[in-house]
Amino acid sequence: MTDHYAVVGNPIAHSLSPRIHRAFAAQTGEDIRYEKQLVEKDGFAEFARNFFTASGRGLNVTVPFKLDACEFADELTERARAAGAVNTLAKQDDGSVLGDNTDGAGLVADILHNLHWPIRGKKVLLVGAGGAARGAMLPLLGEEPALVHIANRTMQKAEQLVAEFAGHGSLNGRGAQNSRGSQNGCGALSAGGLEFFPGGFDLVINASSASLGGELPPLPPEIIGPGCKAYDMVYGAEPTPFMRWARDCGAEVADGLGMLVGQAAESFALWRGVMPQVAPVLAQLRTELQKK
Ligand code: NDP
Repeated sequence: MTDHYAVVGNPIAHSLSPRIHRAFAAQTGEDIRYEKQLVEKDGFAEFARNFFTASGRGLNVTVPFKLDACEFADELTERARAAGAVNTLAKQDDGSVLGDNTDGAGLVADILHNLHWPIRGKKVLLVGAGGAARGAMLPLLGEEPALVHIANRTMQKAEQLVAEFAGHGSLNGRGAQNSRGSQNGCGALSAGGLEFFPGGFDLVINASSASLGGELPPLPPEIIGPGCKAYDMVYGAEPTPFMRWARDCGAEVADGLGMLVGQAAESFALWRGVMPQVAPVLAQLRTELQKK
């Protein structure tokens, strides 16, 4: 029997997820049906309950329902619990629904395996402290960077993230500090606003939504260290304002299309038990995006 999947959001018309998952299914020979579903802002739980009762196997969840999906899940993976948000729901054999967050894994896979940018031992700047930054934390820390500094317009949110993740095992007992200088341990994880940065970085990830509105966070050129790579989670036909700025500062740049395909691949693997190849699907989407 054909298994049924969907992506749920509001708005949802723009979603590339059906294209990506159908391409994965064709590539792996998996028999699935995948659709997009617009749901009213207060209607997530009811939709998801009906979907899974009516033999649905899995959902991708996008804005604004990632917190609702987290509440809906019967059980959470470690990375979903750490993120406090769910982008993937999977019906398990016992009928319960597992919530996962594959965004951060998609980001890290794109950086390491598509772009071939190193993370281990590098100084990483994460700009933004919303859901996407939160989801990126555990997978990023798992790659053992030398430093992750979180800079956010609202500094308290960056400090909150540092407080939550400072005790995580992958920091190897190293501590956290904030930009005003208070410090525990050697400061592998630190936080600040957009006014002060502790030197230059090897990798700068824009996890803010500024690019969506054509805006650029007020970042000083000094954050772009020698050989710096700069990644914007937003993607599109044209380079984002952040990408243009970072390129002008001398960085190698990339957008978030590979993250999108990477998080989808992680969801597909959770549902079907087979990891699809990201590269051909990413190349196809990139070509189509540039033709628009
Ligand atoms: P949230 O709304 O949770 O967080 C937005 C973040 O952006 C906050 O930290 C906010 O700061 C900051 N911000 C917004 N506008 C500005 C600005 N003009 N200048 C500086 N900072 C700003 O969004 P998400 O974390 O869910 O998503 C962030 C981005 O990541 C989105 O653009 C989204 O499209 C993208 N994304 C891409 C994915 C992919 O697969 N490629 C997957 C998931 C997300 P403050 O706290 O001060 O409000």
